[in-house]
Amino acid sequence: MSNGEVFMRAPATTPRRTVYTEAMQIFERAADLIGLAPRVRLELEEPDYEHIFYITTKLKDRLVPLSPDQARAFSDLPATKLRNPDGLEPLPDGRFILNGRALLGSDVAIRSGHLRLPDGNIYKLVPGESQRFKAYRVQHNQARGPYKGGIRYHHEVSLDLFKALAAEMTWKTAIVEVPFGGAKGGIQIDPRHYGREEIEAITLRFMYKLKRLIGPNVDIPAPDVGTNAEIMGLLFRQYSDGENERHTLRGIVTGKDVRIGGSEGRAKATGRGVAFCIEDYYAEKGTSVRGKTFTVQGFGNVGSNAAEILQSMGARLLAVNDAEGTVYNADGIDVPALLAYVQDPKNLKRSVLGFPGSQRIDKKDFWEIRADMLVPAALGGEITTEVAERLNVKLIAEGANGPTTPEADRVIVRRGIDLIPDIIANAGGVTVSYYEWIQNKRMESWSEAEVNRKLEQGMKRNWRIIRDIARNSPRQTEMHDSRRFCIGKEVDTRCAAMILALKRIEAHYQLEGFSQ
Ligand code: NAD
Repeated sequence: MSNGEVFMRAPATTPRRTVYTEAMQIFERAADLIGLAPRVRLELEEPDYEHIFYITTKLKDRLVPLSPDQARAFSDLPATKLRNPDGLEPLPDGRFILNGRALLGSDVAIRSGHLRLPDGNIYKLVPGESQRFKAYRVQHNQARGPYKGGIRYHHEVSLDLFKALAAEMTWKTAIVEVPFGGAKGGIQIDPRHYGREEIEAITLRFMYKLKRLIGPNVDIPAPDVGTNAEIMGLLFRQYSDGENERHTLRGIVTGKDVRIGGSEGRAKATGRGVAFCIEDYYAEKGTSVRGKTFTVQGFGNVGSNAAEILQSMGARLLAVNDAEGTVYNADGIDVPALLAYVQDPKNLKRSVLGFPGSQRIDKKDFWEIRADMLVPAALGGEITTEVAERLNVKLIAEGANGPTTPEADRVIVRRGIDLIPDIIANAGGVTVSYYEWIQNKRMESWSEAEVNRKLEQGMKRNWRIIRDIARNSPRQTEMHDSRRFCIGKEVDTRCAAMILALKRIEAHYQLEGFSQ
């Protein structure tokens, strides 16, 4: 290349600290401890595939509220009488999505693209434009079975985050002994700022692009933050539309509505799994959940279901923190009432804030509440060193993925706070996803009691193995056998969980070998 020629430089290969390298610290520690075979280490240190793609969708027209100053110019504009008010979809920022049918048959008074709604406010009509979104699917490892992992719709996502979450799925599926590998993906989007039909269009377009990368025996998505059973239904439809043997493809996604092939018990499975681990933690100490107090961060699928089940076991919920703020009641928060409040269609932000049976407190104070346990069930990285130093709980059961930073982990160990780590605590979801996948393959439908019984066995058996590894107490009981996994010394529970995962994954490589 001639001197002075301009060319694109590849970035320097100096290792940088990312959410992925942070998440992998525990992998490296456990791999060192067990002397993981170097080839297996290389296979697991980076994902098999990292897909990034873009999806473009046409958005709908919006009505944007004017400030009182701007609205003065339209003071004599008569209000539009809407025949189909359902066609107006409110967004949390005060805007409305204008679905085509909203104005049908109405007497519409528009001036310079502005109209007055029956609420008395003036709105500017902004035509919908096409928007491009960044989408991801990371397929981390498939030594033990097809890639498996959730689809996240959130504005704060990145390739590194999805790599970390995909790797977590590899560990998790090994820990609960389901024959899957690990994957994760989603879209960089804040779904609260889009209408129902827009989310549908974005989801269909997402699957249109994703389809070539996945399959019911290749890679199986499921719900995660910002997605739910409804989105899974759309993903199934788009994947299977027009296919000759459509009914055999139902296992392409899990977490579907039970009426279209979902499993009984799946919706609550992650929260129930958290509760089963906690129940076993206390049972082993000769006590029970009854009378214990707890706090929860995140009141979505995982947090609300864990709270509901813990309350039904006799525990008292003292406080909930979500994306909007924190509510607190020393006498206990009624979980079903809080759930009804959050799910009320008028509660546009789906937030616990303003719940009548509670007082609002600062997030800072939330972390300092004295309680028996804390269930983080929101996003990753929330329990930092500062937070860990201030916690006033005896047990953390991680409902969320990666809620604790590696530095905070060390504080938790030092302070003697017990931990049920995420890769076992929140593995109930993927466990019942596996049951759903089997039911789809067999065209069967199991009862909720059967699903919950199997889930309880799976969670408690593997949590006991992890506990034994942590205490270096190899044993065989009727329910579990930890003899192959203990390493001759004590470790913390997070490391113990990773050791269990790595030993199970390593066995596949050792016994099956490597194709070149
Ligand atoms: P969700 O979208 O149903 O709920 C997320 C909750 O977190 C909401 O209450 C939201 O207000 C809150 N939240 C968001 N940002 C926050 C912030 N900065 N501070 C405090 N609260 C915040 O999501 P979900 O499905 O319940 O998932 C929650 C966590 O559990 C995630 O880490 C997810 O990866 C993990 N997880 C979910 C499942 C599952 O089956 N849904 C399975 C395993 C792990």
